[in-house]
Amino acid sequence: MTRVVYVNGRYLPYADANVHVEDRGFQFADSVYEVIEIAAGGTVDATRHLDRLQRSLSELSIQEPMSRSALCNVLAQVIRRNRVTDGLVYMQVSRGTAPRDFPFTGKSLTPTLVCLARSLSVSARDARASRGIRVVTMPDIRWARCDIKTVMLLPAILAKEKALSAGADEAWLIDGQGFVTEGASSNAWIVNADDNLQTRDLSNALLPGVTRATTVDMAAATGRRIVFEPFSIEQAMAAREAFTTSASGTIMPVVAIDGKPIGSGRPGPVATSLRRTFHNFAERRSAC
Ligand code: PMP
Repeated sequence: MTRVVYVNGRYLPYADANVHVEDRGFQFADSVYEVIEIAAGGTVDATRHLDRLQRSLSELSIQEPMSRSALCNVLAQVIRRNRVTDGLVYMQVSRGTAPRDFPFTGKSLTPTLVCLARSLSVSARDARASRGIRVVTMPDIRWARCDIKTVMLLPAILAKEKALSAGADEAWLIDGQGFVTEGASSNAWIVNADDNLQTRDLSNALLPGVTRATTVDMAAATGRRIVFEPFSIEQAMAAREAFTTSASGTIMPVVAIDGKPIGSGRPGPVATSLRRTFHNFAERRSAC
């Protein structure tokens, strides 16, 4: 039997069930989901699952794709068309499809809705239950691996949105000890009181930025010292200059933090000079 998947208003054969490459669920993990058990042909705890779905959508300001009764109808169709008596129904709602850009406010996005259902063997699950399962323990790192450039960008998107709504352009993220880790989509730097560059040392707390690495090379080549130490928000506010590094912005002077002017309140000479010479130090090729 061909499996049938609901995708944005259509019931499609499994092989044709696609969403766009620029869907924000795919690019940013900007989406939510629910899984509901199907037992003896009916849903289990559907009200609680749909309440949670509604809450998740509301917390992220993602529009509801349709009314609850319409969604129940889609779920019933997917369950029926796949002839699922015992199994699961899965639904995912993403914020929608748009050219890749972190912010979402002010964009007219139509949420993507996908629903799938599949059968699960009751006897296999019962056999597993009669054997019992084993667990192993590990640190809860969900998600403490900011050094990996994953598409799990939902926290970064929310940070960027908050920055934009506060009239800023980027968010600097602070760890539990009050030190800046990095920007939502850039690495964070200051020019400290000793006129040295300062940026946090690499760890799981930040992305090892390519532009950061090239900036480190550039500083070494021009004899400018870099201190690889975390700096607090107070140190940043008292710094001579601050700037960010990223492939999309290269070296971007920071003129204010939380509304307080940094240095003269205008792009500083160090950041400006690094920005001017950056492309001379970066690897340049006609193509990869
Ligand atoms: N930190 C984060 C969280 C980023 O998303 C990015 C890039 N988008 C950077 C730092 C800068 O990395 P790169 O210089 O390689 O662009």
